[in-house]
Amino acid sequence: MVVEHPTMVRPGTRVRLDEIDPDFHEGLGKRDDEVKERLKQARDAMRELQERLYAEGEQSLLIVLQAMDTGGKDGTIKHVMRGLNPVGVCVSSFKVPTPEELAHDFLWRVHQRVPRRGQIAVFNRSHYEDVLVVRVHELVPEPVWRRRYEQINEFERLLAETGTRIVKLFLYISKEEQRERLQKRLDNPDKHWKFSPADLEERELWDDYIAAYEDALTLCATEVAPWFVIPANRKWYRNMIVAELIEGALREMNPQFPEPDFDPRQIVLE
Ligand code: ADP
Repeated sequence: MVVEHPTMVRPGTRVRLDEIDPDFHEGLGKRDDEVKERLKQARDAMRELQERLYAEGEQSLLIVLQAMDTGGKDGTIKHVMRGLNPVGVCVSSFKVPTPEELAHDFLWRVHQRVPRRGQIAVFNRSHYEDVLVVRVHELVPEPVWRRRYEQINEFERLLAETGTRIVKLFLYISKEEQRERLQKRLDNPDKHWKFSPADLEERELWDDYIAAYEDALTLCATEVAPWFVIPANRKWYRNMIVAELIEGALREMNPQFPEPDFDPRQIVLE
């Protein structure tokens, strides 16, 4: 069963990002009680469901986070995952591949980081970089990256069939919002570490990235591994929706505390 949600990409439909509003926020305000309550409710439920998932030790959850630079991947992880038991969560950030990683197929490094049973894994960037930055910068020939959409679908199907629930989130900001966020990083000395002049070169390639994202979202939205396009200009709205989606996925997984293989009433402690 797929979580039906307004942000979900329907498998088989062509995604056009200019038809989606990155500023969408249901007409809510940051300080509305409804927003605070919905976020709290989702976080509390996530906590309880994670406990069950961990105790059950049968299934796992993989959350893939992709975004343009400044799109809010780090902030989403910080705000949404807060409160989960760190023992059961593993965050992996995928950077420029090392020579060792490049000496293998593109999924090799990713497969090693998928969640073990009972765990939640968060991918901060992912195997999708291999059809995004790699495509935009022509790091491999076109026939090579073109084959990857199908290879990714097969890989994700393997994970799904072996007990991993997959939720893929594209945090979608506008180009104007990115300009403002980059400017804030320049204006605030405490944020300079987050800025890189290379970000400006990537920004020049905005349209190429949008085209690459549209293909990744279109070609790799499957029943077992759906893509969600999260309107992410407003950080509080993004956090709330992401928390609700993760809660929904965990609920559908319906993890159960295992039955004890002993009778607690028969056990007497000295
Ligand atoms: P982030 O922007 O995620 O906070 P960094 O600033 O360290 O982290 O950026 C990581 C960089 O690694 C990004 O520019 C990204 O495009 C690049 N990258 C990730 N995966 C690949 C890949 N498979 N091939 C080439 N570059 C990659």
